[in-house]
Amino acid sequence: MAVERTLSIIKPDATERNITGKINNFFEEGGLRIAAQKRIHLTMGQAQQFYSVHKERPFFGELCDYMVSGPVVVQVLEGENAVVRNREIMGATNPAQAEEGTVRKAHGVDVQANSVHGSDSPENAAIEIAFFFSGTEIVG
Ligand code: ADP
Ligand code: MG
Repeated sequence: MAVERTLSIIKPDATERNITGKINNFFEEGGLRIAAQKRIHLTMGQAQQFYSVHKERPFFGELCDYMVSGPVVVQVLEGENAVVRNREIMGATNPAQAEEGTVRKAHGVDVQANSVHGSDSPENAAIEIAFFFSGTEIVG
């Protein structure tokens, strides 16, 4: 399996609690490299566009409000099978159902404020990485 990249976001519930370093430790201990990283405050337009796949879901409005409620850290993670590997490191969407040892089990608050985003496929990873980063900003 070739080296792959995925888009990660450390969400506002985690930046608010000042635990971005603790979360990065999960990625690095889990075999992924942080190839790009920046702390930004999403605009409502960016949040709506980023999550547009969920625009028909009942939680879409709340999700966008939450994602602009504080800063986030957007990241490119790189490594073997990075998309799937990161989803394993993150754990299930609902922290109550996440396995022991995952970011969401350790730090997630609830099904919305679940501390991290990770791309769900290599195709979406490429789209999501390009949403936040230019090629020269990514150094694996
Ligand atoms: P994941 O982030 O695990 O890929 P989804 O893509 O299904 O999960 O959902 C995107 C985000 O929307 C979740 O990470 C979470 O912040 C929020 N979300 C998902 N389901 C719910 C829900 N039932 N109620 C509130 N927010 C939700
Ligand atoms: Mg998703």
